[in-house]
Amino acid sequence: MYTIKKFLKNMISANPSFEEKQTFEEKRRQMVKTQLMSRGIVDEKVLRAMAKVPRHEFLPAELWDRAYDDTPLPIGENQTISQPYIVAYMIQALSLKKGDRILEVGTGSGYQTALLAEIHEEIYTVEVRPQLAQKALAKLNELGYGDRVKIHIADDSLGYEEEAPFDGIIVAAATFNIPEPLIDQLAEKGKIIIPIGGRELQTLVRATKINGKLAEEEFFKCMFVPLVREGFENN
Ligand code: SAH
Repeated sequence: MYTIKKFLKNMISANPSFEEKQTFEEKRRQMVKTQLMSRGIVDEKVLRAMAKVPRHEFLPAELWDRAYDDTPLPIGENQTISQPYIVAYMIQALSLKKGDRILEVGTGSGYQTALLAEIHEEIYTVEVRPQLAQKALAKLNELGYGDRVKIHIADDSLGYEEEAPFDGIIVAAATFNIPEPLIDQLAEKGKIIIPIGGRELQTLVRATKINGKLAEEEFFKCMFVPLVREGFENN
């Protein structure tokens, strides 16, 4: 006999993603509260974007249950998606204004790109590993961010010279010093957010270009993968 109970059970199992979606949404709400607001992320636009963008979608399925944990996670090719707090902090530190030209160095999974595109109308992003770039692009298209994102696969140069100058540059990989090509690609009054230091540990730095010179502020210690070509990989 086809009971109402069976009918309901079939309905639910035929549509598991609905329940799953609710759980992820709830986990994101928790993440915003316990990992971001509690640590001083106050920018409404950043909090809204963090509550909306599905971080799990940028991770392999076997990591979905940890997607909203307070930690970086692997995305393949020895690269990582940063801890949610770090991503939120870096975007907040950019203090995006309408019409700003923004460059992200290190597209990786595309997660941070999606957050930036959620807040800002146009984002330039550059990735040195073509396979990661292609995967990120496919995901960004699938989630509806494609129109706002211009992705560039890095050649021998650093950054995205053809589209410079930028009012904000956000770098998701670490180097010893702020690379000259990125300083050149920064507009007057533009800001670069970048982890600077050694292989094991860096300091998150924000540098603002004032009269052609950089004024630096240091935030906190962090750990990023090396920036290819400028990083520590050959040392
Ligand atoms: N923001 C990403 C995390 C990036 S991890 C996310 O949300 O998933 C750092 C990324 O920087 C890696 O994908 C790495 O391949 C890339 N990268 C390293 N050196 C680079 C360079 N010189 N130019 C562009 N991308 C670079």
